[in-house]
Amino acid sequence: MATATSTQTPDRLTSYNPATGEVVGSVPVHTAAEVDAAVARARVAAKAWGALSFAARNEELTSFRKALAENAEEIAELLHRENGKPLLEAYAEVMMALGHVQHAAARAEEAMAPRKVSAGMLANFKATVSYHPLGVIGVIGPWNYPLFTPMGSIAYALAAGNAVVFKPSELTPLLAVKIAEIAAKTFQLPDLLQVVTGAGATGAALAKSAVDKIAFTGSAATGKRVMMAAAERLTPVLLELGGKDPMIVAEDADLAKAAEAAVFGALTNAGQACISVERVYVADAVHDRFVDEVVKQVRDLKVGGDDGHLGAMTSTAQVAIVKDHLEDAIAKGAKVHTGGPNAITGNYIQPTVLTDVDHRMKVMTDETFGPVIPIKRVASLDEAVKLANDTSFGLGSSVFAGKGARAIADKLRAGMTAVNAVMAFSGIPALPFGGIGDSGFGRIHGDEGIREFTRVKSTAEQVMSIPMNMMSFRQPKDMTKRLRGMIKQLYGEGVVAKAGDFFRKLRG
Ligand code: NDP
Repeated sequence: MATATSTQTPDRLTSYNPATGEVVGSVPVHTAAEVDAAVARARVAAKAWGALSFAARNEELTSFRKALAENAEEIAELLHRENGKPLLEAYAEVMMALGHVQHAAARAEEAMAPRKVSAGMLANFKATVSYHPLGVIGVIGPWNYPLFTPMGSIAYALAAGNAVVFKPSELTPLLAVKIAEIAAKTFQLPDLLQVVTGAGATGAALAKSAVDKIAFTGSAATGKRVMMAAAERLTPVLLELGGKDPMIVAEDADLAKAAEAAVFGALTNAGQACISVERVYVADAVHDRFVDEVVKQVRDLKVGGDDGHLGAMTSTAQVAIVKDHLEDAIAKGAKVHTGGPNAITGNYIQPTVLTDVDHRMKVMTDETFGPVIPIKRVASLDEAVKLANDTSFGLGSSVFAGKGARAIADKLRAGMTAVNAVMAFSGIPALPFGGIGDSGFGRIHGDEGIREFTRVKSTAEQVMSIPMNMMSFRQPKDMTKRLRGMIKQLYGEGVVAKAGDFFRKLRG
């Protein structure tokens, strides 16, 4: 549970600006009974929404997108005030989120189009795979990208024909309430997208409720708790957890571009992104030049203020994690080039560049989720790949290199890789987003992200009868012998025909 930039009484949750300590506002703490009631209302909405045509849903989602765009100033301002991120980053988040609403609405029909598949041996059948809405999706969102991240589930779930009950982080509830207000005004079904607010207990109630799927973004520890709670009803879960994303810089990389990307990838949103660049492995021959360039660029950045590049950290709990990682690294021999544990003032952390780091240090193995760039010298690309893959996480990754870049990318054990760029996969709505290992499972974004919120239905439709009907007890006396022969013919060493052809022949 995050702390300090929100407080709670039994029935109200207050959200504070992490940059100033000012109250942003307060929201109700919804009880388990209220969460269940919201899910029940959503179920009614889901029935009507799921019955609409794709075109009708697309039209309503387009109105929703337009209404969000109309309210972009207020939404960005709330993102800025509740999360602490600079206004520029807040607007970038709004823009990216709206791109996903547009994409999900436009793609749903094609992504969910029924597919005819081969009927194999049963050549007298027509076989179809079709996709149908699940019903009600519970979305539990994080505080770092309070709009963009949950929208990756919300937009795709709605486009697939589901209703949504969204529980935002206790640190960023007002933004979510604003989105729900816009949704209630835009959608003809006011309960289609509801928000329930509160701290972890409200999220836990949603995970235990009668939703048809839970889409969770947050820490691996809480993700496991959500999965255990959902197991009670065998509710499926999609887990988008943290990462320890590596970046590899090869000898033939464009160093200036690589440094610029490392600085942005590690420090955007003050490093509080699940796909932040969390560690950098640089070829020996260019290591020193790369470090000099990174340090030079980092020194030009401004922390805090209206024109700052880095805002306040969203919670004091996160500041403590970053400080602990820095102290641990320094105690184990890391060299500090900028920032460091003494360059922390309240919720502001000066961006920190470290070298002489290794995998005994938390900063190279645990999710730091803060403005830190640890850079490690490597003797070869093989060593870089080995170290990059030496993690229980597997979310994003990036490679800067010349001709061999794609080959290096293919060796990385991660859900996503950017080549000669950082984080780009999250801005391409057609690319599925998600991880492996401790980074979770399931995908948001892309066609996979739409189908994630559907149930798959398989239909086998008999279109003509054939003399040999295996789905009957009425078989000729020599059927066992015939089957024995057929197995050899169809699947043994002397395969004479594909199963379908064989049965077509048999049908005459
Ligand atoms: P959490 O994982 O605790 O919170 C994520 C969401 O889960 C929030 O909405 C939270 O609500 C909710 N939640 C908390 N407890 C429960 C529960 N028992 N059942 C259901 N939902 C629950 O994140 P933290 O704020 O504690 O962050 C800790 C770490 O997680 C960070 O240091 C970072 O490493 C990682 N993280 C990763 C993110 C990502 O994008 N992958 C995003 C955020 C964090 P509430 O906030 O009200 O407690």
